[in-house]
Amino acid sequence: MEAITITLNGREVSGQPGMTVLDLARESGVAVPTLCHDPYLDPIGACRICIVEDERSGALMASCVTPIAPGMVINTESPRVQERRKTIIKLMLASHPDSCLVCDKGNRCQLRKVASDIGVGLVDFQRIPQQATIIEEVNPFIERDLSKCILCAKCIRACQELVGEGAIDYLGRGFVSKPATLGDLPLEKSECTFCGTCVALCPTGAIMEKDKVYKGTTTTTVHSVCPFCGCGCGVYLEVKDNRLVRVRPDADSSLSRSTLCVKGSYGCDFVHSPDRLSSPMVKVDGNFEAVSWEEALGMVAEEFKRMKEAHGSSSLAVFGSSKCTNEENYLLQRFARCVLSTNNIDNGSRLYNAATHVGLWETVGCRGTTNSFDDLERSQVILVIGTDPTSSAPLVEYAIKRAVKRNGAELLLIDPRQTKLVSWANLWLRPKVGTDLALIDGMVKVIIDEKMLDKEHVADKTTNLETLAKDLQEYTPGHVEKITGITSDDICHAARLFAKAGRASIVYGDGITQSVNGVGSVAALANLALMTGNIGDGGGGIYALQMENNAQGACDMGTLPDFLPGYQSVEDAQARKIFEARWGCQLPLGAGLTALEAISGIEDGKMRGMYIVGENPAASFPNSNLVRQALESLDFLVVQDMFLTETAKLAKVVLPVASFAEKEGTFTNFDGTVQRIKKALEPFGDSLPDWEVILRLATKMNYSMPYSSPRDVMNEIAELVPLYQGVNYDKLDVKSYRLDKGQIAGEKMKFSPVKYTQQPSPEDGYPLTLFVGTTLYQFGSGSRSLRASRLRKLLPEAFVELSKSDSRNLKVKDGDRVKVVSPTGEVAALVRISDTLNQGTVFMPAVFPEGQANGLFDIVLDPRTKAPALKTCQVRLERIEGDG
Ligand code: SF4
Repeated sequence: MEAITITLNGREVSGQPGMTVLDLARESGVAVPTLCHDPYLDPIGACRICIVEDERSGALMASCVTPIAPGMVINTESPRVQERRKTIIKLMLASHPDSCLVCDKGNRCQLRKVASDIGVGLVDFQRIPQQATIIEEVNPFIERDLSKCILCAKCIRACQELVGEGAIDYLGRGFVSKPATLGDLPLEKSECTFCGTCVALCPTGAIMEKDKVYKGTTTTTVHSVCPFCGCGCGVYLEVKDNRLVRVRPDADSSLSRSTLCVKGSYGCDFVHSPDRLSSPMVKVDGNFEAVSWEEALGMVAEEFKRMKEAHGSSSLAVFGSSKCTNEENYLLQRFARCVLSTNNIDNGSRLYNAATHVGLWETVGCRGTTNSFDDLERSQVILVIGTDPTSSAPLVEYAIKRAVKRNGAELLLIDPRQTKLVSWANLWLRPKVGTDLALIDGMVKVIIDEKMLDKEHVADKTTNLETLAKDLQEYTPGHVEKITGITSDDICHAARLFAKAGRASIVYGDGITQSVNGVGSVAALANLALMTGNIGDGGGGIYALQMENNAQGACDMGTLPDFLPGYQSVEDAQARKIFEARWGCQLPLGAGLTALEAISGIEDGKMRGMYIVGENPAASFPNSNLVRQALESLDFLVVQDMFLTETAKLAKVVLPVASFAEKEGTFTNFDGTVQRIKKALEPFGDSLPDWEVILRLATKMNYSMPYSSPRDVMNEIAELVPLYQGVNYDKLDVKSYRLDKGQIAGEKMKFSPVKYTQQPSPEDGYPLTLFVGTTLYQFGSGSRSLRASRLRKLLPEAFVELSKSDSRNLKVKDGDRVKVVSPTGEVAALVRISDTLNQGTVFMPAVFPEGQANGLFDIVLDPRTKAPALKTCQVRLERIEGDG
């Protein structure tokens, strides 16, 4: 397209067709004030502060909504423009309360800033009575004082255009107009999810953060990455006096686009929790006693040395962390391999990531999400299966809703639960629990039979179609209907919808990876993408959601028993040689034990010592009672954490570590984007960053690692790990970096025939199927989110959701206490009656320490991934006597 040239303040400048005058002015370095404008929102020209003058016609126009046109002669600072801007600001101030001195928005108020910039001090206009009032809110996150609202509609547009929630809109006309929820209800009674986007974008103090632990004017602002889910939202940490005053979205991050979810916006105050560990501790006669670092690390070093000599390296195991940085995981696996001489190292993401690693590797040659986050939004059809991104990956949910609402994408939702995304779906399929694989196989068969394959893609880039077609012969729509309960018509409809889209994407999560058929289901989804050409450039992609912020990075860095960093096999002689030369040690041979194999090894008496960094297996692993007993019986357990978690309580030595806000490093999110985190706070008490603890411990064990900072570690990673070759701290300061995870060079992608296998009938006495999942307001095993003061307020007790009909049959009502009993364990929970579940199914979040749903699951490992099935199990509910 030909560039358009205009005259701007006497200078010729050129821009692309479609740009507005404001866009071009800003690109050309000309400042134009705005209040209602945001680069991620559709411009509406509501505030008019951005007016400019076209000197040819004398017209004054809002530059944010005026496209550039050839020959324009624009003046952004003419006397008429300046006078008009002053009038507009004075009108706004005439209806604004005189509360600047006490308003918490302080110097962040854009109205005040613009007024000052254009020279408006005293307002000589008659005051305009303000109709809108302060709205009392019960929720712990957001409060509104609409007397300060300037009707810029940023909150409304952010909620509708970016988050796709639409919880607020204009109510009333003229002087009484205001942004309000449906029925003008308090936020907690609306659809609001408290993501905080409206708070971040409000230019005045009309919508503000509530119940902050620390208040005051920010003195330092530091870039970081949200420490919760795998989306990896960029954040700014605002700090005063070594306290986190506020967390706001990074408006320049193309991933988060000014949005966060409630956890990112209001959950990071766990860093100031009174439960933080402040000094190393050693257990003496069953009680922890504070000791110096010197003493604690000395004891750990001596014990590990003694055990290695007495029982061999195979008696030791290390757990890395999907919450720690890439650099820390890299150091930890080096410590395990070079100091302890063992490949017994794993990380917690095995519980939800292992099926993806195997299933996608064997088909598309990739170990995670294949395409970028932006590609997802460009999809024409999005298949969402085995995940509720509204709770587990909110940023992905926003992108899906934007794709549907703004780009006309069609949503194909497969979920036995009626989640929030159902109202956005063109087609919602509700298969019987555990039958996803049969349904996908059925869709694949329809695509083959109706010749809807992308023939060119299949011929050029794939192999093994014939075998797949042969193996799936029995998966006719009729046969699949019998297994899944989905009608043949709907199976065909879903297959056609997916196959006929130009760009179709698949989003899946732990509902697939933690199911009994996890690897098979992932491979079946890959088959679907492969045969429709939806892999790679220009097409759709496969999006494997990950629970923790650095699950991808922890695996990339080699905290895995069978891989050195960058998925270079521990058996690969060439790779071993390179690492051995650099690290000056002989690497152990043969794959080590996975996390759950190591736990089983304790029972067998083979495993005697463990070093667990940033994981909480006593709460997050299945059959937690058994896991707890096993860990307790170890000769020596060292836990490195911020809190005295359920696992740390069992340790002999506890090493306190810095939070994400107190250290440097990088995280890699679920789509492979590497981002830096920077130190915003001094570490709490005597805690140290994990990387420093690992280095000190290695030195104590007579193995010095030559790094003085995480930057040094990343330099080595970039050198030795091909996947991370382009990563560099200085470049990351300018822009995040997305890893090139392309398929295996020169090899064709491969269809993998996988068949559904009928699960054994449940034991008598356990008639209900339990789903375990996440909730929006809590996270993981809750070690951090339950210590976030406001998140904890909203969801204080463990609950179990069940359908109305089940509640009638069981004679329980909302708020009753029940025992959820499985063949493996039992937990107490409050009843919540929900219309989102089918009869016979119940739902629990995994998060509460006093009601760990994971404890209901037996440890049954997938033979290939060595990961346990943790999604569904059979239970019964028993009313707790004396209740109701
Ligand atoms: Fe973003 Fe996930 Fe953090 Fe929410 S929890 S702000 S979606 S990274």
